[in-house]
Parts: sequence; structure tokens; C-alpha cells
Amino acid sequence: MLDIAVVGSGMSGSAVAAELERAGRDYVMLEAGVDRGRAHTAADPRSADLVDPARDPSFIPFLTRPGTVYGPLSGYRERLGGRSLYWRGICIRVEDQALADWPAEVRHALLGAAGTPGLYDEIEALLREWSDGAPLTRARTATEKEMTGELGRLGYPAVPTPRAVRDLGEGRWDAYSPIAALPASRFLTGHRVSAVRELPGGGFSLALQGGERPALVARRVVLCAGTLGNIALVDGLLHGTANGLAPRRYSIVDHTACGLLAVDPHGTHEAMDSSVHAGFHPSARSNLIVERRREGAGVLLDAWAMGEQPPEAASTVLAGDDMEITLEPAAEAVLSDVREQQRCLMGGLAAGLGLPVWREERYVSYEEAAARAADRPGTAVFYDAAIGELDHECTGLELGGEHVDTRGLLRSSPGVLLAGPCLFPRAGAANPSLTTLALARYVVQRMD
Ligand SMILES: Cc1cc2nc3c(=O)[nH]c(=O)nc-3n(C[C@H](O)[C@H](O)[C@H](O)COP(=O)(O)OP(=O)(O)OC[C@H]3O[C@@H](n4cnc5c(N)ncnc54)[C@H](O)[C@@H]3O)c2cc1C
Repeated sequence: MLDIAVVGSGMSGSAVAAELERAGRDYVMLEAGVDRGRAHTAADPRSADLVDPARDPSFIPFLTRPGTVYGPLSGYRERLGGRSLYWRGICIRVEDQALADWPAEVRHALLGAAGTPGLYDEIEALLREWSDGAPLTRARTATEKEMTGELGRLGYPAVPTPRAVRDLGEGRWDAYSPIAALPASRFLTGHRVSAVRELPGGGFSLALQGGERPALVARRVVLCAGTLGNIALVDGLLHGTANGLAPRRYSIVDHTACGLLAVDPHGTHEAMDSSVHAGFHPSARSNLIVERRREGAGVLLDAWAMGEQPPEAASTVLAGDDMEITLEPAAEAVLSDVREQQRCLMGGLAAGLGLPVWREERYVSYEEAAARAADRPGTAVFYDAAIGELDHECTGLELGGEHVDTRGLLRSSPGVLLAGPCLFPRAGAANPSLTTLALARYVVQRMD
């Protein structure tokens, strides 16, 4: 019997596999998508096409019938490496206010104690080492240095955005992905795990679709199929599939963002984008990121406040034969308060930068704002990113929650472990991947 089966090869699956490699464990990683190479998309000349879900052949929507939240552009990049080959490398720790709601054991492991580094320190050191020893907050462009100074003078606690990226020249770059260094002999691509069943004598049988092997038996299973994929597989294990029962409910959250775009048609910029983290703002429960990049013959300023979908306004996943995601009207009211606070933050930034503002009360997409900003150079045009649009779906199978214990084991079947943003007890405002990488190490260290 195989010792460990890892289901999914994206950010969490490849991070778990990297930790298993480090620990010298025996495992196989099963991935539904095909192998399209392991280079990060930003290093590929077709980068713009690949990042756009509408043009990426690997894009698969999460839901068979997309809803008003998690619409047709919310989904997986179904290929070896998953979304770890698309992320922008932004590495921000979950803020203390949100970590306070995590179980003490996990919080202490992440943060460490006096004199002992925590998992956040360890993963940041690993990422530093990967990017040639330079700090994650080093300024990568002269503009980044200038922007940090400019925002500092306006009162923002600004640092170059912590990113696990490397400049490859001519505007190309890559971000860290654990998939790059794993031995190919460990992957089984084109094999979707459709169900996991506990065997009476011990171990688990995994039903496979799409490939040559119809099934696989393993002593331990680590589910890394993304937040919604993990919920579907756990729900199948707990309740069976296609059983005609009423759908079961899980709560998930994402991030919500308001941003502004302003075009400077005469500006000049280096080939690589510049990005500054202008602090966490408790009033808007958001991190403020300010970026400048080349756009046509000029420069585009793109700044956004990205914040927590508050736990009291979580989305409901209805797991059953056909998964659905809904948002209660009360949750929408809470979210519109967050959006209002985010817009105040963006209004303050525009005023500080001396930019007139164009905004509407209704939802304005990034694409619409980009077209308006191009028509009105020098004006800050506001845009929105709604729930399901940011690829940050989290929680649902929280560490220390109803289904999963504080070590990441499924309570009803402790031979099944979970990894990924689904484990977050509370998301906070931070981008999830630094914490996802840290929790992969946490889970593997506690695995027998
Ligand atoms: C354009 C973009 C930019 C981003 N930028 C950032 C950033 O700067 N910072 C940050 O922190 N985060 C960022 N993210 C988000 C980050 O990439 C995700 O949070 C992260 O990849 C989620 O990891 P995961 O392992 O849960 O899911 P994924 O990376 O999506 O991996 C899941 C994998 O499981 C496979 N799978 C699913 N179901 C099955 C099954 N049943 N059987 C077998 N395989 C299965 C999928 O094909 C996929 O490969 C970004 C995402 C995108 C798309």
C-alpha cells in the first residue's frame, strides 16, 4: 500500500509534497489537470493570455452553475502546479487581530516564541534563500524606492511589497512555486480524485477519473484540492455522494477590494512593475497596496484596499450533488460597510496624491475602470473586486473547528489530513499563500 497520497498539486499540494520530500517520506501527488510545464506564467511570453481566465486553457470554473458570488471567472487553473504558477508572490502575514481568533497552538507555531523562530520566519527565510538571499521587502525598481518615500511622507507606513519574486529581465519575472523543484516521478497528472473511502482494514481507497489508473490505495491522504475541492471531497467522505440528501452547509470567506486606476500618459517606468505595501488599516480591515507599471506609452497607477470578508458575513457553500455558493442579504449589508470604508481609504490616498476622483455608487469592474481611466488621464477612477474574484477563497474546514482538529486531521477519519487556505480559522486581510506555505509545514510536521 502506498504510504501517502497528496490530492492536488497547486500551492498547498506542492508545498506539502516539498515538506514530505524534506522529511524523506514516500508519497504520490495526484493532479486532475495535465502537465503544461512548471514555469511561472509571468516568465512566459504569453503571460497576459494565461492570466486572463477567459483565455487560459487551464481555467475551469469552481461551480458547474456559477452563481452571483463565485461567477464564471472564479475557478481553478487545472494543471500541474495549479495557481502556484499564476500568483504574484505577495507574502503578507495574517494580521494579529485575525490571528487572535486562531487556536493558540497554531498561532504559537506560526509566530514562534521569544528567541525561537516561528513557521512564518522559517518560510520567509526559505523564500529569501530562493530569491538569492535578498529580503522580500527589497526595492526592485528605482520607482519602488521613490514611491516608498512619497507614501511615507503622506503618513503611510510604506515598504516595498513583500514578494517572493525574481526579476528575469525585460519585464519578465517568476514567483516561487514549490512544484518547480519536485521530482517528476512523484506526480500522476490527468487523474482526478472523485471520492475517498475509508477501508475496513485501514487505509483509504481513492477513486480516480480521467487517467489510466481507476483507483489507488494509500495509508494516509492529504487533501490539497483547493478550498472548494477539499470541501467536496470531505463532504463525500462524511455523507457519501449522489445520495439525494439535503445539501450540507460550510462557511467560506474571500477577500473584497476597492481600487483606483490613474493614467499618466507622459510618465516613464522600468520594465518591472513597482509595488508598495502602504500598511494595514484597521478601519477598513484592509491592506493598502499601491503599484505603478508601464501602460502603453505611459504609466498606470493601480492602488487597492484589500480586506477581509468578515466572518459574520461569510458565504455559504451548499455541498451536495451540485455545489452552490450563496450570500445572505445580511452579509451583503456588512460587505457594503467594508466597501464604504475601503472607498474612504482610497479617497484619502487620491487626495494625498493630488488626483481628482471619478467614482460611482454601483459596482465598477477593473476593465470598465481601465477604459475610463484611459479616457481621463490624471483622474483616479474607482473600481471594485467582489467576492469570488480574488482567488483567495479560505476557511470552511478550519483548524480546531467542527471537522478538522488543530493538527489538520479530519476528526471523523484521522488518516485524512487537510492543507490549504480551507484550514484558516479566520482569513484576515492578508493574501493567503505565505500562511498556506507555513501551514503545509505545520501539518506535515505533525503527521505520523
Ligand atoms: C492571478 C493570481 C494571482 C495571485 N496572487 C497571489 C499573491 O500575490 N499572493 C497570494 O498569497 N496569493 C495569490 N493568489 C492566490 C493563490 O494562488 C491561491 O490562494 C493558492 O494557489 C490556493 O492554493 P490551493 O492549493 O488551495 O489551490 P490551487 O493552487 O488552485 O491548487 C489546487 C489544485 O488541485 C487540483 N485539483 C482540484 N480538485 C482535484 C481533484 N478532485 N483531484 C485531483 N486534483 C484536483 C487543481 O487542478 C489544482 O491544481 C493568486 C492567484 C491568482 C490566480
